[in-house]
Amino acid sequence: MLNFNGFYKFVDQYETMGIAENIDQLKNELHEGVCLVAVSKTKPKEAILEAYEAGQRVFGENKVQELTQKYDELPKDIEWHFIGHLQTNKVKYLAPFVSLLHGVDSLKLLKTINKEGKKNKRTISCLLQFHIADEDSKFGLDMQRAKELLTDPVFTEFEFVKICGVMGMATNTDDEAKVRTEFQALNEIFNQLKHAFFKNEPSFSQVSMGMSGDYLFAIEEGSTMIRVGSKIFGKRIYH
Ligand SMILES: *Cc1c(COP(=O)(O)O)cnc(C)c1O
Repeated sequence: MLNFNGFYKFVDQYETMGIAENIDQLKNELHEGVCLVAVSKTKPKEAILEAYEAGQRVFGENKVQELTQKYDELPKDIEWHFIGHLQTNKVKYLAPFVSLLHGVDSLKLLKTINKEGKKNKRTISCLLQFHIADEDSKFGLDMQRAKELLTDPVFTEFEFVKICGVMGMATNTDDEAKVRTEFQALNEIFNQLKHAFFKNEPSFSQVSMGMSGDYLFAIEEGSTMIRVGSKIFGKRIYH
């Protein structure tokens, strides 16, 4: 990599140049009210600090151990979002500090989140994940299961869980029309749930959709929260 002094600078696994610039550029593209979650999974803390110094405070991770380690080592005013699929036996590690859990898709998981919230004396904010893409491998609810969940007497008793909206991932494709249709579907799910279950709850307000490849479409289709990784930090290298 060539830096501005013309030296080749070798760094491990990430590009030191451009993180702040990438964040500035993204923020210019966002409508007011759209939150940028900087997805820092697999990236070292130096990269996160560079984004932090550029003013970024909301970061997303998808592995529990990686997230807790970064939480320990990085500034405490960072808001950590968990964007992966969460196993019930790992909720306890995140419950003390996590700002938002994006990938909640079962009553069983919510039960554990509520229990761990109670232990930590904090209400844990969650998004319900919906399956909007073609791909089988992606987790998430459909409308039917969401309605069952939200009307379950067990759910209505939870005091330490706050459902703040919905989350989804579009199919990984170049077909813009298809991606837009999936985002529209998630936005429609949000509106229906808002009307049916959360009319008097201003905190039910978030539609988390849009990643590096499709966030501009997502914003146009009603996203309030985009989760962007590679566009900020460069490509991820998995070991
Ligand atoms: C990795 C990830 C992202 C970010 O992906 P990019 O394409 O790098 O922006 C967003 N959401 C989820 C759920 C992810 O796992």
